Amino acid sequence: MMISMTAAALLIAGVLASCPLRVANHGGEDRSWLSAAVVGSQLLPASLQQSAEPVLGFQNGQPQPLLIVDLPSSTAAAPIRVEVHTALAFSRMEAAARRFGLSLQVNSGFRTQEQQQEVFALYRKGRGPLAARPGFSNHQSGHALDLDMQSPRVRSWLFRNAHRYGFQRTVPSERWHWEFRGDLRKLLGQPDPLQPRNS
Ligand SMILES: [Zn+2]
Repeated sequence: MMISMTAAALLIAGVLASCPLRVANHGGEDRSWLSAAVVGSQLLPASLQQSAEPVLGFQNGQPQPLLIVDLPSSTAAAPIRVEVHTALAFSRMEAAARRFGLSLQVNSGFRTQEQQQEVFALYRKGRGPLAARPGFSNHQSGHALDLDMQSPRVRSWLFRNAHRYGFQRTVPSERWHWEFRGDLRKLLGQPDPLQPRNS
């Protein structure tokens, strides 16, 4: 059954409002984010809106509320969860790549604190790739996506075009790790759905 746009927005607001940790840590700043999210979530494409879920992310060790959505994946068993701004930018980039007959795949998007603890533990044991300390990964702030770079055509297309969609490589030793650092308003040609209009 389809959830209406307003119902989805109210659901998001309800979950955020009922989370005492966020309110305690962020005070008024969170409330403006919350009302912007309620208004803004109605501007999201229906496909993303239905899976929108507020979560606790981290940036520079500080908890922060994020809205994440599911990106469909043809290779992973479950959808990949991605922060909504990054997801909107990636969707634009993916559509452009598709016009060249290329398929972009996300291997890792948003990570919870528990998931980052797991990948960090593997890295420390020498059994996984470089991973940031829990709380300090941009997979937790929502900016980072690990993309499948096995195809030489995909690699070369991304190196030439990803910057147009606001994606940059930020870890030289990890060519699969990209971060969204762009201006979503320019990319979408409309106001950022999740920012207050007067800022
Ligand atoms: Zn990464």
